[in-house]
Amino acid sequence: MISLPEKSDCCGCSACYNICPVNAIEMQADQEGFAYPAVDGSICVKCGKCVNACPVCIGESQSEDDKTKAYWAINNDEKTRNESSSGGVFSVLAEKTLKNGGVVFGAAMSDNMRSVNHICISCSDDLPVLRGSKYMQSDISDMYRSVREYLDKNVEVLFSGAPCQIEGLLAFLGKDYDNLLCVDFICHGVPSVRVWNKYVDFVERKQGSGIRSVNFRSKAHGWHTISVSFSFEDGSKYESKESDDLFMKAFLNDVCLRPSCYKCRFKKIHRKSDVTLADFWGVDKLFPEIDDDKGTSLLMIHSEKGNRIFELSSDKIKSGEVDIKTVAIYNAAMIKSSPVNKNRTQFFSGLESKKFDKLVNKYAKPSLYRRIRRKLGKIKNSILKQTTKKAERFK
Ligand SMILES: Cc1cc2nc3c(=O)[nH]c(=O)nc-3n(C[C@H](O)[C@H](O)[C@H](O)COP(=O)(O)OP(=O)(O)OC[C@H]3O[C@@H](n4cnc5c(N)ncnc54)[C@H](O)[C@@H]3O)c2cc1C
Ligand code: SF4
Ligand code: SF4
Ligand code: SF4
Repeated sequence: MISLPEKSDCCGCSACYNICPVNAIEMQADQEGFAYPAVDGSICVKCGKCVNACPVCIGESQSEDDKTKAYWAINNDEKTRNESSSGGVFSVLAEKTLKNGGVVFGAAMSDNMRSVNHICISCSDDLPVLRGSKYMQSDISDMYRSVREYLDKNVEVLFSGAPCQIEGLLAFLGKDYDNLLCVDFICHGVPSVRVWNKYVDFVERKQGSGIRSVNFRSKAHGWHTISVSFSFEDGSKYESKESDDLFMKAFLNDVCLRPSCYKCRFKKIHRKSDVTLADFWGVDKLFPEIDDDKGTSLLMIHSEKGNRIFELSSDKIKSGEVDIKTVAIYNAAMIKSSPVNKNRTQFFSGLESKKFDKLVNKYAKPSLYRRIRRKLGKIKNSILKQTTKKAERFK
């Protein structure tokens, strides 16, 4: 009997699927739309490789918080920065790798805008499809195998993904490679592809046209006022602040995240990745002089490899070192899982039968925990602002 983790612990990273030597594992979507491994007992040779490559089975690595350094960072190229979710640092790291003849793995929307898949690019003309956050779980497919092939051929590889996907890749590889750079992000959690598809059906029906492109992090109203925008096949457009968009409401009020995201074991300061990217929330309070509302990245460097690429990129980005503990106050998702919305079960039960707007308006209200956290956040912000002002007066 092989013992992969319980369903509620499985993050869907696909490491088990990639490592199985006899292809006995298939990743199958459940009722909610999240993929889980299904083992075909008639093919399985009980080698145990899937369990040994599972980041959940392997468990926590030792935390060495004090090794990690943090920076605010901004891409000097304004166009790229505008097309990126935060300060556009991912593109700088990717360009560096591609210029060295390397390849970059990351998440791209599918052509019909219905799902997100991990792909591999070798040319900077293809970089725009990887740019920007896509708020649903990306399908890894057999990309870890492909990463290993490139690494074994001594090609430089940058792999970008959710923290659990990075740990899945590293567990799959089972050894360190000098030519591999792993880039993860601070992760709120991932909604299911099925919820996204229900939303797309709703929007397309309302608009009377198919979606041609989507931007989950439009900066049309500034970076602090996150907006979602779509363009449709008939040339029309949709744009909404995230607080009014139905899908973003469901996502940010934690009603449709993968079960493992509510008890995520990959959230920590020091990580197995080389670099962690995030939104530098709180930059307007901590460093108002650099906040131009066009997007600032938080960059966390965990390793010598991460440090090397950061130094090599210094001509492409503006940056400054920051105290990681202070920054963490503004970005709770760095170390804390999202709370389960008490209406989650009803939300998924109604997904098939209810109209998407009715479903979201009924069930995707912020939980008491979220409301308290938002209130405390505001109080904390104003205390920190006053403390900073006082400190400045005494300088
Ligand atoms: C699901 C999700 C949740 C996030 N939650 C937070 C959060 O709570 N707090 C926070 O500070 N930051 C969060 N981020 C990260 C943040 O939104 C930016 O992606 C990050 O700051 C990098 O921005 P950038 O401007 O450097 O580059 P960008 O060009 O915006 O970064 C794009 C990179 O993200 C990868 N990516 C995009 N979508 C996915 C996906 N679905 N799965 C795997 N990889 C993906 C791409 O492959 C690419 O490498 C989240 C991102 C995602 C995808
Ligand atoms: S035990 Fe081996 S053969 Fe069986 S599913 Fe796992 S990896 Fe595949
Ligand atoms: S390797 Fe990943 S997908 Fe497979 S069981 Fe473990 S957590 Fe789930
Ligand atoms: S919250 Fe954790 S488990 Fe969920 S996608 Fe992010 S890293 Fe993976």
